[in-house]
Amino acid sequence: MNDIFLRVDELESQLGRIHSDFGELKLKFKELLEENQRLRIENQQLRKVLKRETTADIPTEAAEEPAAAKGEDKGTLAAAVGEGYDNLARLYHEGFHICNVYYGHLRMEGDCLFCLSFLSK
Ligand SMILES: [Zn+2]
Repeated sequence: MNDIFLRVDELESQLGRIHSDFGELKLKFKELLEENQRLRIENQQLRKVLKRETTADIPTEAAEEPAAAKGEDKGTLAAAVGEGYDNLARLYHEGFHICNVYYGHLRMEGDCLFCLSFLSK
């Protein structure tokens, strides 16, 4: 009978170890997901810069027509703002914070009120 209690004790401490190992793994996983997201955003931005750099040398028609260029700039800016908003909304729906409180961190507990108020602006 004593044997059984010893076994149960042993199992209990094993379970405790597994539990704490699992907690560490979960944390590591969260960090990796966050890092992955950061790298994805950085990669996206670098691609944009690269695209701008490689097309900057080619003279455009807009450069010869300042009036037309002005109108185009406005359109481009509005498009960029819209794109920025879309990116943030997508990021949020992929499970990340976009609020200035926890930006870039994984949302562990459902919706975030800070993020939602930001999105509804
Ligand atoms: Zn948030």
